[in-house]
Amino acid sequence: MELHEQDTTIKLQPKAPKKHPKQDPQKLVEIFNEISGFTQKQKDIIRDAYYFTERAHEGQLRKSGEPYFFHLVETAKNLAALGMGPKVIAAGLLHDSIEDGVATEEEILYEFGEEILFLIDGVTKLGRVRYHGMRRHNESLRKLFVATSRDIRVLIIKFADRLHNMETLEHVREDKRHRIASETLEIYAPLAYRLGITTLSKQLEDLSFPYVYPEDYKKVRDILRERSKQTLSKLEHVERSISKKMALGGMRNFRTSHRIKGLYSLYKKLQRKNWDIDSIYDVAALRIIVPTITDCYQCLGIVHEHYKPMPGRIKDYIALPKPNGYQSIHTTIFTGDGGLLEIQIRTEDMHRDSELGAASHLGYKSGASGHTDDGTWVQKLFGKGHYSPPDSTEVIEKVTPTWIAALAEHSDNPESDKFETELKEDFFKHQIFVFTPKGETIALPEDSTPIDFAFQVHTGIGLTMSGAKINGKMSAIDSRLKNLDIVEIVTSKRGRPTAKWLDIAITNEARRKIKGFLEREEEERQERERR
Ligand code: MN
Repeated sequence: MELHEQDTTIKLQPKAPKKHPKQDPQKLVEIFNEISGFTQKQKDIIRDAYYFTERAHEGQLRKSGEPYFFHLVETAKNLAALGMGPKVIAAGLLHDSIEDGVATEEEILYEFGEEILFLIDGVTKLGRVRYHGMRRHNESLRKLFVATSRDIRVLIIKFADRLHNMETLEHVREDKRHRIASETLEIYAPLAYRLGITTLSKQLEDLSFPYVYPEDYKKVRDILRERSKQTLSKLEHVERSISKKMALGGMRNFRTSHRIKGLYSLYKKLQRKNWDIDSIYDVAALRIIVPTITDCYQCLGIVHEHYKPMPGRIKDYIALPKPNGYQSIHTTIFTGDGGLLEIQIRTEDMHRDSELGAASHLGYKSGASGHTDDGTWVQKLFGKGHYSPPDSTEVIEKVTPTWIAALAEHSDNPESDKFETELKEDFFKHQIFVFTPKGETIALPEDSTPIDFAFQVHTGIGLTMSGAKINGKMSAIDSRLKNLDIVEIVTSKRGRPTAKWLDIAITNEARRKIKGFLEREEEERQERERR
């Protein structure tokens, strides 16, 4: 029996469990410390991947001088922190083993199966960006969306990988640092944000910020440093006082936490507010997390009973969620000493969704923990389809946002700069969210018109559009849509695009389709004349 455990003969016994040391090594324990509720079998997948990757990267070092495989451990820990399941964590451990290590696709397939190989393959393809430099950048981006459109878990592994690379960016050659940080700031952080994975988005932003805008970074850091001390002491004071009042009001089952605004997010806001820190009220926010929605409103009552709210700053995102699904009650209160403080009230589920977004719906725990999930969140964000517990390919395809698939198809010529320009214009420009009459969410760049909306919903609707209703009212087709508008497109047999539409539409997608239609129409006209 013992003989068959040799590497050369292991293929003869595919089902035989691997023999690993009785005691897990420290680095593996670090991964296990991030997970809970996994079965022995599930932990064994991670264990197998750990030993496999350790061997595949044997003798390799990172630029920091650490063993290369520490990078895989950190990637796996990041994935565990995002609540991912055993296969995704294993794929995180293995993600560089083919490209940078000595493993082959056949070995991975044999040892870990098709699904994990698929995930690694996706991440490997995305990873090629660093070997080809800027010229291949657009092609890599397109690949990113192509791979991700099939399985969003690929992108989440890439996020976890990138997070650790950003944490160790100081060891990378200086000229490469700026490029990697810019890419993180311009592509990965906004993508994570759009997917609702706000914790990760904030981490990526704040790690990139000092490399991309070093001077501004120092400025914002100093402003925040000066501000934090007084803000934090004020915050702790209010936290204690509200906790007491909640308890007196009969509410015992709650917890509080606070968050300081991310440096990069503060930077963006400072730019909008002429660098006036005093006009930014959410530098720090107190969070109160309670069991039920009813508790949220009761809690708001207790807060307002004791602290005057600032008019116009009470926002009920529970009754009216943000288009990305975010739910919470926000209120800004006068703290009584001349200061102001934002308070955010939410349930545990809302809290989890707000931090993990799409990841929380792919996660291992989302079905098992009694997380009441009827899928409305996913439907709101991603538009179509129904959500059921994860772990099947079909579900993962449905959880993958349609806008990612659209971006994958988006590019005619990925080698050209056009793709990246379009990407920045259409996707990363400030977004608004509008609704179809059925309540599906459509994301569009700011200043979009009903024409842009129509083509975004369906080409056929755009091509037969004859008018538009915005919030129930007939409106001009060159109206500018606003966030949360409900838009209904009126179609008719005689509706068709005209050259004027090209001046009205602002998205590249609508303009391309209109242009295509007009060209076809012109060809047909010439054809008729010739006859
Ligand atoms: Mn990596």
